[in-house]
Amino acid sequence: MIHWDAHACLPLHPQADFSPLDQLHRSGVNYVSINVGMDMNPVSQIMSVLAGFRATIRAQPQRYVLANCMQDIEDAAASGKLAIGFDLEGSMPLLEQPEMVALYKCLGVMQMHLAYNRNNSVAGGCHDLEQGLTPLGYQVVAAINAAGMLMDCSHTGRRCSLDIMDASSQPVIFSHANPMALVEHGRNLTDEQIRACAASGGVVCVSGVSIFLDSANPSAHDVATHAAYVANLVGVKHAGIGLDISFLQNGLDDQPPDEFNPDYWWPKSAGYDRGLLRIAYPPIESWEVLSDALQSTGMTPAEAALVMGGNMMRVAAQVWG
Ligand SMILES: [Zn+2]
Repeated sequence: MIHWDAHACLPLHPQADFSPLDQLHRSGVNYVSINVGMDMNPVSQIMSVLAGFRATIRAQPQRYVLANCMQDIEDAAASGKLAIGFDLEGSMPLLEQPEMVALYKCLGVMQMHLAYNRNNSVAGGCHDLEQGLTPLGYQVVAAINAAGMLMDCSHTGRRCSLDIMDASSQPVIFSHANPMALVEHGRNLTDEQIRACAASGGVVCVSGVSIFLDSANPSAHDVATHAAYVANLVGVKHAGIGLDISFLQNGLDDQPPDEFNPDYWWPKSAGYDRGLLRIAYPPIESWEVLSDALQSTGMTPAEAALVMGGNMMRVAAQVWG
């Protein structure tokens, strides 16, 4: 059984320490998608991070595999290694060139979303005025489909996410987003968005982030409750896990440009008043705890296994080819 964590964050620094990922691996995770850049990061930083992360993975072939396809993940699991893929959080690193999608895919970027909280020239963000997918955005959706990359609508505005799910020829995922019916927050998803994701054949992976679970000390039970909501609304085949744990490391914090304004990207009005420092994650030292929590919502062991990885395996196999 493959356990799939659809999103996690290391410092966006080429020398980031990968040992926190070993903790994830020991907890039972077989594949994790890690962020290599957001809309606020310059392309020079993203390229440096990609080079550094690729070198770190390549230097430790006994521990890590850079996954380019489903077989890589299955082989890594069979040999006791952690499979890693990269993701981009936003389309500004494409520099308004849809052709950049295929280039990032060559470098190991296996999933991306089109906006990060704020509107850009491609898509609308979830903490901004409603904006649909732009004409350039339709080209980017086509490029992501053509590249065989997972289309991710996390951080995207409601209307734009519906446009993307309508335009995409492949299943669309939310790699880390939670149901708004349980917690009213601009980053969370309406039932309409969850239904559209399921209709595309995709998966809503719920996060373990405290503010989106409305829990100061989130637990596996909180995560399972949100996954069960998705499963009850649209079917267990459309629920997944993307804990979105940020492994902060002193001295290797993100190095944003001088004009960077955190309140623009994480508005105080949306509860990010003390930035990442106020965010907590569930202490899931073993994914067996998560399996138990999912089963306590009424799922069978086989259904819990779908949520913990089987569903994302299905979608990635279809999209990556
Ligand atoms: Zn995110």
